[in-house]
Amino acid sequence: MDIPKTSKAMVLTKFKEPLELLDIPVPELKHGDMLCKVKLASVCGTDVHLQRDELSMHPPTPIIMGHETVGEIFYLPDCVKTDVAGTPVKVGDRIMWSHLFDGTCYSCKVLHEPVLCEKSRGYGFSNAYELRGGYAEYEVVLSGTDFVRVPDDVTDEEAVGACCAGRTVVNAFDKLYNCGGIHQGDAVVVTGVGPVGLYAIVMAAQSGASKVIAVDISENRLEFAKKWGATHVVNPKDHPDAGERVKFIRDLCGGRGAEVIIECSGSLSVFAENFDILSNPAKYLIIGQTSDDSVPIVPNKFQRHNAVVIGSHSGDIRHYIKCLKFIQAHKKKYPFGEIISKKYELKDANQALEDMRAGIALKAALVNK
Ligand SMILES: [Zn+2]
Ligand SMILES: [Zn+2]
Repeated sequence: MDIPKTSKAMVLTKFKEPLELLDIPVPELKHGDMLCKVKLASVCGTDVHLQRDELSMHPPTPIIMGHETVGEIFYLPDCVKTDVAGTPVKVGDRIMWSHLFDGTCYSCKVLHEPVLCEKSRGYGFSNAYELRGGYAEYEVVLSGTDFVRVPDDVTDEEAVGACCAGRTVVNAFDKLYNCGGIHQGDAVVVTGVGPVGLYAIVMAAQSGASKVIAVDISENRLEFAKKWGATHVVNPKDHPDAGERVKFIRDLCGGRGAEVIIECSGSLSVFAENFDILSNPAKYLIIGQTSDDSVPIVPNKFQRHNAVVIGSHSGDIRHYIKCLKFIQAHKKKYPFGEIISKKYELKDANQALEDMRAGIALKAALVNK
């Protein structure tokens, strides 16, 4: 099979400027590298911020964004026979992959925490000429990258959520369970109903919570939340007074506050206010915060509530696999594929980003024609 000489890509050449459609030469593949045809690349909230250079990291441009990709294997080197779970793979199979973790550093080797890898090589954040981003026709999957074959009965739209939001929540829930997890009958509050919030809601709903209360200012998102297992929804616009709002949510929890709060909104004020919704004792899981800004909080609120506060970031291939299994098991009950609210051709990536920024699309996705 002939490797294409070039790949079209929507390239972030300069922060705050529209992406440019360019022909990028396909780099020479090294031993063990794969080439994938991008089938579906979803647009992450992170991309929206990256394009504007609003993240705490500032990778140099030009960049091909896109770290949520379902790719079809186009070139498979002889040395690669299976995915990480031992499932045989062939050309044409659909796969998803994590960032490349080197496997040799202290975080990988000693802590067994690849997401903290000191020498990781990311997809969707690297130099455009390395062709490692989903906003393109083709993507190079470097030798040593952990990847998983997408099961045949899971669609691209259902699977792609596992690439970022889903795996992030699975990793966070693993950490939550190390601290006692969600007990049967617990009241769980999820603040922020983007893709991360939705996966938090559905996994909490399947974990024995008696109440899963979703909080968001978008009615559209709250409708999604109900379909994904929320038992109650709260729109802060209906409760503009903070004291009344906190009491309302505490009352929904049965008057004693939430046993578990999961912060997925990214809002600093929400992060701070959630300390008033905690029950005693409580667990507070933080997965939505991405900025470097700060907000005042009262440390005694941790102490008084006997609270366990847990932060969690990203996920490695274990979490992709567990998330795919979760999706596969529950796909008849929950409309996972609906997370992709609109599809765009690659050349229309700027419109996709704009629609995400405007909140029109819950998740936009790019497809190759
Ligand atoms: Zn993402
Ligand atoms: Zn490492």
